[in-house]
Amino acid sequence: MRFPTHKNTAVHASLSKQLPHRWLKYRFEQDAFLPTIMPRYPHTTPPAPGAVLEVAPDILWLRMPLPFALDHINLWLLRDTDGYVLVDCGHGDKATRTLWEHHFRTTLRDLPITRILVTHHHPDHLGNADWLMQRFACPLSMTATEFLMAHAIFHSCPPFTAEATFALFRTHGTEAEDIAVFAERAHLYQAGVPSPPARHHRLNSGTVGTIDIDTNPWHVIIGQGHTPEHASFYTPAKKLLISGDMLLPKISTHISIWPFEPESDPLLHFLDSLAPIAALPDNTLVLPSHGLPFYGISERVAQLREHHEERLSDLREILRLSPRPLCAAEIFPQLFLRELDVHQRFFAISETIAHLNHLWLLHETERHIDSDGIIRFSLAL
Ligand SMILES: [Zn+2]
Repeated sequence: MRFPTHKNTAVHASLSKQLPHRWLKYRFEQDAFLPTIMPRYPHTTPPAPGAVLEVAPDILWLRMPLPFALDHINLWLLRDTDGYVLVDCGHGDKATRTLWEHHFRTTLRDLPITRILVTHHHPDHLGNADWLMQRFACPLSMTATEFLMAHAIFHSCPPFTAEATFALFRTHGTEAEDIAVFAERAHLYQAGVPSPPARHHRLNSGTVGTIDIDTNPWHVIIGQGHTPEHASFYTPAKKLLISGDMLLPKISTHISIWPFEPESDPLLHFLDSLAPIAALPDNTLVLPSHGLPFYGISERVAQLREHHEERLSDLREILRLSPRPLCAAEIFPQLFLRELDVHQRFFAISETIAHLNHLWLLHETERHIDSDGIIRFSLAL
């Protein structure tokens, strides 16, 4: 799940009455400096459900539905010598499988899926991998960490459980009522990945040669911060980047904090991971998991860096204006100045903790673990 980088001005205005004047002035000044250069889109509309669009020679774009506010995922079929290589599989639910059955008859016709590549373990990407592997008796390639993450979460191994995440959120001040609402959605992973794949071929950073599709080599670019070992795929021959969730045109990639690494700096890992992507040629067409294919890698990376800089500046300002240390649960409503549904609130807390950890590990803030067990932050003196 990810968040729009724009702000809802109506919510912004209504909150204005509740926030200190200096803080608001600062917010509006920041908004005025949001970058205006936009990526360029060669296709203005996505393929209809059940249809495909050829975004480059022998590269087909499919869309599948998602049962969330973010309501779609893009999948990619790469024509190989004796069939298709599929990148990402869609959410493991009936709606997606019905559309897949349609694609088997129309898009694939007599050709098989010969290999599956998966960018990361999230259900919209991995959900149907096992089902498709069994149908086509084809192999799956993904990074080992993402493969293991899928099994750890699916089988609820501590500390990969929803309860472990809730415990982490509690230490950052999340109230019991919010935890109770989150708990109703604790088994979303198993709903989206009904059976995790039993085996995989391991992808490593820079893997070349093991992924030759129609004689073109594809390079693996590892990304962190969204998930621990996300794989993006780049082919110099066609100047195409299948970016997964690491580079999206409109929404910023969600930065995740995990209970098994509660004091980590996923924001730093994410920003570092953008470097090899930003170094790709600017005439590279980016095929993202959400939104439209686009040109303009360097502009988009610059926008994301600015977005996170702005959020860190907001955090510093919130802490500076507070007479006492604050916990993440007190801070996130001031960072995300719009209405958030329960799903978005969950991710907003996680992302706020990630940004707080980043400032703490830069020694810009001090972290206090109070007698009530809650972690609070203040600006370092
Ligand atoms: Zn994801």
